[in-house]
Amino acid sequence: MPIRPILKFGHPVLHAPSAPVSDMDGEIRQLFDDMVATMYAAPGIGLAAPQIGVPLRVIVIDLSVGDDAKQMIKLVNPEFVERDGEQHEEEGCLSIPGFGATPKRPARVVVKGLDPEGKERVYIGTDLLARAFCHEIDHVDGLLFVDRLTPLKRDLLKRKLRKKARSGDWEE
Ligand SMILES: [Zn+2]
Repeated sequence: MPIRPILKFGHPVLHAPSAPVSDMDGEIRQLFDDMVATMYAAPGIGLAAPQIGVPLRVIVIDLSVGDDAKQMIKLVNPEFVERDGEQHEEEGCLSIPGFGATPKRPARVVVKGLDPEGKERVYIGTDLLARAFCHEIDHVDGLLFVDRLTPLKRDLLKRKLRKKARSGDWEE
C-alpha cells in the first residue's frame, strides 16, 4: 500500500473534473489501498483520487482516521441523491496545507455510489460527514473549498494560494 504524494493547489488535475469509473477491476482496488494509506499517513479524514494525480471519480472518507473500521467509506462514482439545510464550519484540505475557510455546505446529504466490489451503497451524512462528502465530491468535480467561498473571500484567498503555488513552498 504505497503512500502517494498529495498534489497541491495549482496542479491542473485538481482543477478539472475527473472521469467516471467504467470498470471495477484490480486497478481500482489498488487505487483504494493507496488512497487509504495516503489519507492515514497525512493524516486526514478524506481523500479523492485526483489529489494523488488520478483523474477518476473515487473517494475515501474515514472520520475515525483508522480507529474504527466501521467508519470507512470507499465510493466509486459518488453522487448526491439529496442535499438539505445549511451549515458553516471551518474546512481544510490536504491539497491546501496551512489554509482554512468556512464554505457554505448542506447540513444533511444522501450520497450514492459503488463500493470496491461494485455494489451500490447509499449513505446519509450530517454535520462533519455531510461536509466530508461535499468536500470529496467537489474534488472529483475539480472544485476546492476556496471555490465555494463568497467572491470577495475567494479572490483574496486565491491570490495568496497562487503565490504559494508559484513558490511551491507549502507548509506540511
Ligand atoms: Zn480536500
